[in-house]
Amino acid sequence: MKPHPKEETTFVLIKPDGVRRGLAGEVIRRIERAGLKIVALEMHQSSKEEIDRHYPKDEAWITRLGEKTLSTYEKYGFDAKEEMGTDKAEKIGPQVRGWLIDYMTSGPVVKIVVQGVHAVDMIRKLAGNTQPALAEMGTIRGDYSVDSAASANKDKRAIHNLIHASETAEEAAHEIEHWGMKGKIHIYTRIEEGL
Ligand code: GDP
Ligand code: MG
Repeated sequence: MKPHPKEETTFVLIKPDGVRRGLAGEVIRRIERAGLKIVALEMHQSSKEEIDRHYPKDEAWITRLGEKTLSTYEKYGFDAKEEMGTDKAEKIGPQVRGWLIDYMTSGPVVKIVVQGVHAVDMIRKLAGNTQPALAEMGTIRGDYSVDSAASANKDKRAIHNLIHASETAEEAAHEIEHWGMKGKIHIYTRIEEGL
């Protein structure tokens, strides 16, 4: 049986740019203010191998990374072949994945496990679009960063977008386990739970 919606957990990483810009507190504040419960929290320097295992390796995920690039190229009138040497999503994806590993190991991250009603979707909503230039104002990425696939690819780096957030309950379960946070979860009630 599926757990009660308020017991859903998700995984957030404040990325190295978020930590280095002093935005860890702001991210945590927004999560807490939304009524979501922080149940585990830890700062960590990741290895390349850890990041490699964190991001999916399947072809569909890697191709989707490439597709995001192609859609902003189209929107902003860039020629993918000229910029990346190819206009095939499956060829662009692996390049982006490599940049992502460099970015995510460039400094410490903050690992956070969050619990609450539809926590996965709630956190994605708070985070905003992957590309900060497309993220709504009022979201973490929209308010505190400006970057896009077109701009990041030109500099041969990952999009700097402050936080990672699991996209599905399955991804969250995998990530909480992978980041060694399963045994570090605290059980308590927030005042508004009224228990
Ligand atoms: P997220 O779930 O919103 O973080 O986005 P994805 O799972 O699709 O991508 C993982 C991370 O890769 C993003 O947060 C970005 O840092 C980076 N990224 C995604 N798409 C692109 C892209 O097209 N170009 C570049 N340079 N980086 C990307
Ligand atoms: Mg993702």
